[in-house]
Amino acid sequence: MAHYTPMIQQYLNIKEQYKDTFLFFRLGDFYEMFFDDALLASKELEITLTSRDGGEERIPMCGIPYHSSANYIKNLIEKGYKVAICEQVEDPKQAKGVVRREVIQVITPGTVMEGDLLDEKENNFIASLTPIGNEQFVIAYNDLSTGENSVSFILDGFESVLSEFFNRPVKEIVIPPDFNEKWTETLTQRLNVTISKEDRVDIPEENFDLVRHLNQQDLVMGFGRLFQYLARTQKRAMTHLQPVQYVELSQYMKLDMYSKRNLELTETIRKKGKEGSLLWVLDKTVTAMGARMMKKWIDRPLLSTKEITKRQSQVEGLLEQYFERETLRDALKEVYDLERLSGRVAYGNVNARDLIQLKKSLIQTPEIVQVLKEFRQEELAELADSINPLDPLKNLLERSIAETPPLSIKEGDIIKDGYHELLDQYRDASRNGKQWIAELEQKEREETGIKSLKVGYNKVFGYYIEVTKANLHLIPEGRYERKQTLSNAERYITPELKEKESLILESEEKSVELEYEIFIDIREQVKSYIPQLQQLADQMSQLDVLQSFAVVSDENRYIKPSFTNGHRLHIENGRHPVVEQVMNDDHFVPNDVRMDEERDILLITGPNMAGKSTYMRQLALIVIMGQVGCFVPADYAEIPVFDQIFTRIGAADDLVAGQSTFMVEMLEAKHALTKATENSLILLDEIGRGTSTYDGMSLAQAIVEYIHNHIHAKTLFSTHYHELTSLSDSLKRLSNVHVKAEEHDGNVVFLHKIQDGAADESYGIHVAKLAELPSGLIERAYEILKHFEQPVYQQKASTKEEEQLNFFAAEEVSEKKGETKQKNDVSSKEKAIMDELKGINLMNM
Ligand code: ADP
Repeated sequence: MAHYTPMIQQYLNIKEQYKDTFLFFRLGDFYEMFFDDALLASKELEITLTSRDGGEERIPMCGIPYHSSANYIKNLIEKGYKVAICEQVEDPKQAKGVVRREVIQVITPGTVMEGDLLDEKENNFIASLTPIGNEQFVIAYNDLSTGENSVSFILDGFESVLSEFFNRPVKEIVIPPDFNEKWTETLTQRLNVTISKEDRVDIPEENFDLVRHLNQQDLVMGFGRLFQYLARTQKRAMTHLQPVQYVELSQYMKLDMYSKRNLELTETIRKKGKEGSLLWVLDKTVTAMGARMMKKWIDRPLLSTKEITKRQSQVEGLLEQYFERETLRDALKEVYDLERLSGRVAYGNVNARDLIQLKKSLIQTPEIVQVLKEFRQEELAELADSINPLDPLKNLLERSIAETPPLSIKEGDIIKDGYHELLDQYRDASRNGKQWIAELEQKEREETGIKSLKVGYNKVFGYYIEVTKANLHLIPEGRYERKQTLSNAERYITPELKEKESLILESEEKSVELEYEIFIDIREQVKSYIPQLQQLADQMSQLDVLQSFAVVSDENRYIKPSFTNGHRLHIENGRHPVVEQVMNDDHFVPNDVRMDEERDILLITGPNMAGKSTYMRQLALIVIMGQVGCFVPADYAEIPVFDQIFTRIGAADDLVAGQSTFMVEMLEAKHALTKATENSLILLDEIGRGTSTYDGMSLAQAIVEYIHNHIHAKTLFSTHYHELTSLSDSLKRLSNVHVKAEEHDGNVVFLHKIQDGAADESYGIHVAKLAELPSGLIERAYEILKHFEQPVYQQKASTKEEEQLNFFAAEEVSEKKGETKQKNDVSSKEKAIMDELKGINLMNM
């Protein structure tokens, strides 16, 4: 290292501590990067790579201007990188040798605070994962922008950790340095996250209030890891962090990692966007905080009937009083993002405009309280009493902050007159001075008789009196002092004018400085209200979500479902909340679902495109809507509280980490079969279709039998294997239902209506016809069908496995029988081809 220049040595010393970041090394007006950072940054940011004398050798370097760094940082963070900001921490003029430099903050995907890096309607979660035993973990969450913290246990294996992260996506996961490598790899591959390491787990004395109420050391340490990581990257007091909430995950419905995607709860699979998801239908919130809470509620449907009923009653109350609800909604629209504001106050990042927004929000609070009291529903009225309108804070802001302040807090004009005596004095002085100058023009004109005489101001010379050349002779001797000559005028000053001028300038300068100080003082006062603001934010977000539920329930004619702890599931005229929204001209056909203790499994048959998977998803979505407290699209609904939902439903046929479609299907099925209870809902759509007919059919049947005999979960099972419908003879809690289709003039019309009993015909070829496959081909398919329908084939279908189509049968048969003659016939070349074919992975071609 000795051969590098002192500055590069300093760089390398600092970089050593921030190996996994881009080190932005402040050099004058630039942030410079060196060595590998420079090579990578020049590619990622498309900036020019240069080099610099580093001592004996030239070293790679690239740089970005300090004042436009925000965009570059954003770019890197969005790609999942971290950026360490290293500043000069002493005045270069006073420095002996190399200027001292320190990292003042590490910006990471999970810890960004900057507004344009955050989606206002989404939380920006970072998590830590701490193993506490054999496949047991503590998971801790934080959103630095809002200050919320929580911890939970996950005691049933790493798979559940993955599910949890699918349900609650995070940007970054902090793990111990010695975390299981295979798991680390899985996290990186399956989730789009940045992985960071932290070995410290202690909580400093002064922050112990965050965790004091957690009575288990594992939880404290689990959060400790996250806290230490935040402290190490933020390097400042995070006074807005809220006490860590213990979340018992078993209090919420569990959605396995496939279900949240399959059911498109918060984003659609194909477009990756919100549009078309359940969230998209339900989200009529009017604040960013509400939008974030809506998402959290959908992620975590409730299990407690008491909690569900409470939300329902509030929604009902809001639903019944349209006028009051609209008043509430209008008031909420004016409420600013108090949660993130609290974070920015803590970080010292707020400006006067933010405080005006805060004031406007607080002005709404009494109105919100007022209108809540007008609701007949008890809990809404009670909520009104629990809201603290924070009058002292509102008064402070009303008295102090100017109505339309500039963005900058360093240029004055942010504090109102009358708030601070000394500031008022400075302002008076400057106003008086200006007034005197304004009057001067008139006075001088009168006294000299020069009508065109002007008093002006410029930055270089300050105030002056200007007289055109033609009038110079009118100026009395010695009245003015010449200052500047222009082509057709002269500019003058007087001692008195200069005196007033310096008074104005001085008092303006002082008042700008004082305003800044006053602002910082006000900001500190706001800081002391952070916990109350966070509580208010929480109340407002909840109200916003509840009113949103009421609005959608009203607009879409949803009804209040009743929840039982029994096994009866009755839905009359249920609809799919999303499909019914996106259908243009057609009517959505409502359907019933009737299940109970004697009727656990519905085997759904019917042609493709008939509406089988829509029916299944519809049930899951109705259940979820119900358990988050919203009303549901149906005429009547009685639902048992489901503890988990498992799905294996079409659409998600994309490949996960190199696994074949069929493998994914089997994994999803395994998940359901091993984790479901009698209180779960299982949706299996066309299971087994990914493999050959008999193979698939046998698996499908075995799975249905297993669920029927061992799990007793409510199950919807759609299949195109007609043979399975006879299962209703042997499995007493299984019933057949089918989707009706009618044929008109040789064409199929889907009625989308679910009816009892098995479907009687397969409409596959009709559908192919609808899809306008060549007519010759369709005719040929009918011919083949006739052939298969002959009795001999039907019999074979139900017999032994040898009948299964097997591409390699000839070869295997010959090998089994040891028929050397036949074996020799398969030339070595053919054998090679066979082997190659066997080795092919179709899914990766
Ligand atoms: P399947 O699973 O039987 O192949 P889908 O559930 O995918 O069929 O439905 C096919 C199409 O039919 C969907 O795109 C949807 O628009 C329409 N559809 C399904 N169910 C209904 C319904 N109940 N009312 C109206 N249209 C429906």
